[in-house]
Amino acid sequence: MGNDGGSIPRRSELVREKKKDEKADRKNQLQAMTTNCSLSKRPLQQPIVSDTLGRLYNRESVLEYLLDNRAFGDGSQICAHIKGLKDIKTLQLKDNPSLNKHGSRGSTSLVAGPEEAEEARFVCPVTMKEMNGNLPFEFAWSCGCVFSAMARREMGKASGNGNGSGNGNGSGSGGLDAVAECVVCGQPVLSDDIIPINSQDAQVLDTLRSRMAERRRREDEERKSKKAAKKTKTKSKGKRGREEAEQEKEQGEEEDNGGCGRERKHAKN
Ligand SMILES: [Zn+2]
Repeated sequence: MGNDGGSIPRRSELVREKKKDEKADRKNQLQAMTTNCSLSKRPLQQPIVSDTLGRLYNRESVLEYLLDNRAFGDGSQICAHIKGLKDIKTLQLKDNPSLNKHGSRGSTSLVAGPEEAEEARFVCPVTMKEMNGNLPFEFAWSCGCVFSAMARREMGKASGNGNGSGNGNGSGSGGLDAVAECVVCGQPVLSDDIIPINSQDAQVLDTLRSRMAERRRREDEERKSKKAAKKTKTKSKGKRGREEAEQEKEQGEEEDNGGCGRERKHAKN
């Protein structure tokens, strides 16, 4: 008995293996999130939308969910925060030009290695980098354009706000603190409008959640103040109308009232 030549892996090696596995799992997960609808788990198909947390869906699936919350088993777990069409944004995605119409890479698919099998449907329109879950991508809530975080950092620089502090994890809104122009369509974009796609960073997701709450609060307030303004308008009008009517009525009664005259007569006697 004993060690017949076989080596027992050390703890550090096991840990390394485990980390490698976790990394591969994470990569696969990110890839799936980038190619499949988070709700139906079916391949993403245009029109594609994102929620305020940067999760991707087929618009059709979200509509189905909004009509019936039980349309997808775990639907309400995944997108309980989607209450209406205001909570999703249709994305402007650039098709990967190296894919042919059938969605494969053509001649190179004959010698497809593992990385070729993971063909990205979309690319960053600025850097032409593939959107396959390996690189951080983002979109602008205001216009819906999707671009790589790398391109967005350029956007920050162009507007003079760039500090290049993006951490390359799809997380940051660093480098874009004020209004800049969308790197794709040129529309003005606020830093709060930039949403990282499929971010796994808990801190980033917290920020996105609080932004979502803040947006809701703002919208609620706007709606309330609009409603209140409308109400006071009709109320004051109604009040004025009522007051006018009451005044007219009182005047009429005074004129009709012979009682005053009687009183006067009575006082004389
Ligand atoms: Zn844009």
